[in-house]
Amino acid sequence: IFSNPKNSGARVFDRNFTTAASESNLIRATLFPGDGIGPEIANSVKQIFSSADVPIEWEEHYVGQEIDPRTQSFLTWESLESVRKNKVGLKGPMATPIGKGHRSLNLTLRKELNLYANVRPCYSLPGYKTRYDDVNLITIRENTEGEYSGLEHQVVRGVVESLKIITRQASLRVAEYAFHYAKTHGRDRVSAIHKANIMQKTDGLFLKCCREVAEKFPEIKYEEVVIDNCCMMLVKNPALFDVLVMPNLYGDIISDLCAGLIGGLGLTPSCNIGEGGIALAEAVHGSAPDIAGKNMANPTALLLSAVTMLRHLELHDKADRIQDAILKTIAEGKYRTADLGGTSSTTDFTEAICDHL
Ligand code: NAD
Repeated sequence: IFSNPKNSGARVFDRNFTTAASESNLIRATLFPGDGIGPEIANSVKQIFSSADVPIEWEEHYVGQEIDPRTQSFLTWESLESVRKNKVGLKGPMATPIGKGHRSLNLTLRKELNLYANVRPCYSLPGYKTRYDDVNLITIRENTEGEYSGLEHQVVRGVVESLKIITRQASLRVAEYAFHYAKTHGRDRVSAIHKANIMQKTDGLFLKCCREVAEKFPEIKYEEVVIDNCCMMLVKNPALFDVLVMPNLYGDIISDLCAGLIGGLGLTPSCNIGEGGIALAEAVHGSAPDIAGKNMANPTALLLSAVTMLRHLELHDKADRIQDAILKTIAEGKYRTADLGGTSSTTDFTEAICDHL
């Protein structure tokens, strides 16, 4: 799935770890249903996994009611320990209040678990018509620093400062991941996306690290594209790109742009890769408060994220079966959620996928 819908051999990461097995020989995975539409779409995943007899035992963790001093956020220490132990998990969207309040739950997870790369595949779905039918690209987002360092303060009244941190270590790590990913997934080009003409020090260092890594992978073409030009090129001809690697904020924005190319945020999966072989899959989208609780959400993005988790676990038969059922259901067009122009509820769409298993 991380290369294209039919590349079932593709893995998120080279596994070199053992997952936690329960007494019943099921594989334990952590599940954060999350906020807003999270619980509704997490239910779809559970129902489809159960219909497909996926040998996974979910360890569910909810966001706490009060701040846990050990994480300094509403995420409980136990939930982080669960991911550390199980090494694999699925996360629903988590809401963050705008401009105030507690430390972002997503930032806490990324920092505490050192989830250094966020891999966001985006490909045209067969049978679902958009302006393009040949989108097939991977955004790899640095996930731990950049504009998301959380270092903001007021300098004097009326003046605030936000620090963008770029380190050699994190830039090399995500660049290595991107090139390694390209090499192991049969992709031949990596584009580093930047604004180094203006952010000369920060994006300049990021590019320097990408160039260093590129030299180690002579078989992969390497190019550098300024972010504004990249947006224009993506909208005009997305087939120009293959694997894109970039600092944190750019990755956040570009991957939403890419989602728009193939039909919207209801469709795009992602996986966070952490040190020690951790893979925490999640949809690209947020908690969608505008449709939460209305049984309208499209569970595809979270389902395809869950499929990446299965591939990571090398459960390719189950991953193929579920992925085919999702794609067939969407291609047939009888059952589609409102974001794709249909009238089906989340539960009807989920049932239809189960019928296609
Ligand atoms: P959003 O992604 O939640 O929603 C943007 C638009 O896309 C909305 O119109 C929504 O209805 C639609 N949409 C999103 N997912 C959909 C789905 N599965 N099916 C159908 N329609 C879908 O972005 P937002 O409104 O900017 O953010 C809402 C909250 O989510 C904020 O608190 C934000 O911080 C949080 N957020 C969390 C994550 C995460 O947990 N990784 C990511 C992005 C935003």
